[in-house]
Amino acid sequence: MISTDRATAIILELSQTLTATETVPLHSALHRVLAESVVSKLDFPHWDNSAMDGYAVRWADSGRGYLQVISEIPAGVAPTQSIEAGQAARIFTGAMLPAGADTIIIQENIQRVGDRLQIIKPAGALGEFVRRRGDFAKAGDILLAKGTRLLPASIAVLAAAQYPQVQVYRKTRVAILSTGNELVQPGDSLAPGQIVDSNQYALTALIQQWGGEPILLGNAPDNPAELAAMMQQAIDSADIVLSTGGVSVGDYDYVDRALAELGGEIHITAVAVKPGKPLTVATFNRNNRQVVYFGLPGNPVSALVSCWRFIYLGFQQVAGVSSPQLPWTEAVTGVALRADGQRESYLWGRVEIKNNRQEFMPVAGGHSSGNLINLAQANALALMPVGQNAAANSVIQVLRID
Ligand code: AMP
Ligand code: MG
Repeated sequence: MISTDRATAIILELSQTLTATETVPLHSALHRVLAESVVSKLDFPHWDNSAMDGYAVRWADSGRGYLQVISEIPAGVAPTQSIEAGQAARIFTGAMLPAGADTIIIQENIQRVGDRLQIIKPAGALGEFVRRRGDFAKAGDILLAKGTRLLPASIAVLAAAQYPQVQVYRKTRVAILSTGNELVQPGDSLAPGQIVDSNQYALTALIQQWGGEPILLGNAPDNPAELAAMMQQAIDSADIVLSTGGVSVGDYDYVDRALAELGGEIHITAVAVKPGKPLTVATFNRNNRQVVYFGLPGNPVSALVSCWRFIYLGFQQVAGVSSPQLPWTEAVTGVALRADGQRESYLWGRVEIKNNRQEFMPVAGGHSSGNLINLAQANALALMPVGQNAAANSVIQVLRID
């Protein structure tokens, strides 16, 4: 049994970033990872422009007094007349500043009769309400670094920077395989002793949420030959394999043995974590690429906690994200939390803002790793380091799982 830190380090060491890339249009770029840095071809803003609706004037004229309005400049129109002393141009937000003008007086601070403008309140400073060319970024600047996972704001930047398509890593292929004779599919009738294979659905959704491409292989029975055949298929088709069940110490837990028979190198078999102690990590070399196999526990809660705590980092690194980080945050625990003496523990609950701070409360109901039902109410996992109880109202680390 190794520590969680050691397991994290091993997983990151084994998870090699994909080499394959592809070009995708921006509308399909959400959650994809940039395979090259994006350099600006333009200055941002592209030209000096007005941040407000008002009047473009010369700073020297921007005190109290009267000016003559000589033109009107809406957004999208290039000004043709320059502003001389004593003159002003009506201007709207985003419109180009005319030559000669350097300051905006907002429309709330003037009175206008015909083309005569009276400044009621002078401008505060030279350049007030002017967005200067290149203030936000200059041509040649790196706008987004290689390894950035694309979110709505980064996609907006790509669009604004004239990149209608973008070079990203191909999606990480994740084969998903459930093991166990007791498993049936949702909608099938349940004979005594059977349960529904919920893990397959949980893991598929998780991989979709992470931006990967799930490959569904279905159920393998607890039978060494059939299991090994399905595992082989998984390894051949994916960058990462996630199987659930069969990694414990029961008589029907064949996954580790099959991994060895298939030529896998086993790096981890158990981690000092609760839930999720049985966690097998193995690698295979297939045509010069490394496939990482994660044998997750069968318990639905343990399988998901293992993914949130460990697999996430390995997945992100394979997907090309630079320096992947877990979504840790700090919260005050609303109740005392008891630590385990041997294993780092995770308790599922909710983090919410109360009294201007983040507060963690365990969700109601049993916290056995077999209780999937109340896990669905949780948005966070409270970390309880080995042997460190947390008193009520003390600060703890929590892992966001939403
Ligand atoms: P195992 O790790 O195979 O011993 O399984 C541990 C527990 O998880 C058992 O109660 C299994 O019935 C349950 N389990 C295993 N696989 C799944 C699955 N795919 N979906 C839901 N529960 C499962
Ligand atoms: Mg099993």
